Amino acid sequence: MANETNENNTTGTATRTVAAYAAPRPDAPLEKTTITRRAVGEHDIVIDIKYSGICHSDLHQVGEDWGTGIFPMVPGHEIAGVVSEIGPGVTRWKVGDRVGVGCFVDSCRECDNCQAGLQQYCTGGAVFTYNGTGRDGLPTYGGYSAELVVDEAYALGIPDSLPLDAAAPLLCAGITLYSPLAHWGAGPGKKVAIVGLGGLGHMGVKLAHAMGAEVTVLSQSLRKREDGLGLGADDYRATSDPATFTDLAGRFDLIVNTVSADLDLSAYIGLLRTDGTLVQVGMPEKPVTLHPFPLAIGRRSLAGSMIGGLPETQEMLDFCGEHGIAAEIELIRADQVNEAFRRLADGDVRFRFVIDASTI
Ligand code: NAP
Ligand code: ZN
Ligand code: ZN
Repeated sequence: MANETNENNTTGTATRTVAAYAAPRPDAPLEKTTITRRAVGEHDIVIDIKYSGICHSDLHQVGEDWGTGIFPMVPGHEIAGVVSEIGPGVTRWKVGDRVGVGCFVDSCRECDNCQAGLQQYCTGGAVFTYNGTGRDGLPTYGGYSAELVVDEAYALGIPDSLPLDAAAPLLCAGITLYSPLAHWGAGPGKKVAIVGLGGLGHMGVKLAHAMGAEVTVLSQSLRKREDGLGLGADDYRATSDPATFTDLAGRFDLIVNTVSADLDLSAYIGLLRTDGTLVQVGMPEKPVTLHPFPLAIGRRSLAGSMIGGLPETQEMLDFCGEHGIAAEIELIRADQVNEAFRRLADGDVRFRFVIDASTI
């Protein structure tokens, strides 16, 4: 529960103490602790966090797969909750509003990308929700906590038609798939493949299907086939079967690779039609290598994409509200988080763990 004691830190600035789950060291199990959040500023809101999704990026960062992390680390960038307090200058939100926060909580607001609503690509440096450094120089702490203090401009509205627990994963998994699907024109007449049916992948199937595209899942095995078809996939193939790569050669306009581990990308590029694009959203630990031939033969493109900006994230939430789309979740207590990390690493989740923040 929220532990809202206001106190003074050594610099004399008012702060608030908040219950959280943190990894004290790289790869260490998460432990219950308290963190200090800033006091509510002029344009800040306080979010009473209700639910927090567990993204594979949380595993990567606690494990320092992408480089040195800031510890203790409170992961979590799929945050859904209710506004419980507002600063005096807040105009966008009122107490009681249902809001979410995704992967970043601030950005420079001045660069071309920020001006264009692409805050995720802020050239001045977006402030990530955790494992980052705020513009005040203090470390950021994520959603595995009872409360978040955030600038009102970096919160998104969650449609009333969506349950908050299943909506939480939209803030990362949802937007990470919506953005490339929208950018590369997934829609009627387009053939889209989603590689990996995990947290991101299952949102990709739902979203691409709702956009009107023909959707194929490329999964390691046929183990989750019934689920995939139920989510809206038109076809479901096992990548362990070499026939998949001959049967589907040259087929897709767009492939979105959500896999968290190394893959032979050349084989997947061979599944693209002329001028098709493979978008890499999975972020494995090791760099990928590939020969340029499969790209050159067919003028195919290899691209990357990272989450989405504030306007597009709101657009995605509204789209999901209209189409009744949210994540398939397994709700857990906060004290089950380490078990959930182990199961996620083993691919044992259908399809997103979400922490009930009332148990923190
Ligand atoms: P996840 O739930 O663990 O799903 C990943 C899926 O990849 C698994 O369900 C599995 O699908 C497949 N997979 C796992 N290991 C594999 C292997 N060795 N070979 C082939 N396939 C394998 O993870 P997630 O939360 O969706 O995240 C996926 C990746 O996206 C992570 O690297 C994460 O950091 C990254 N990410 C990127 C962004 C971005 O903005 N670009 C945002 C969020 C997350 P099947 O069982 O169906 O094969
Ligand atoms: Zn994420
Ligand atoms: Zn910027």
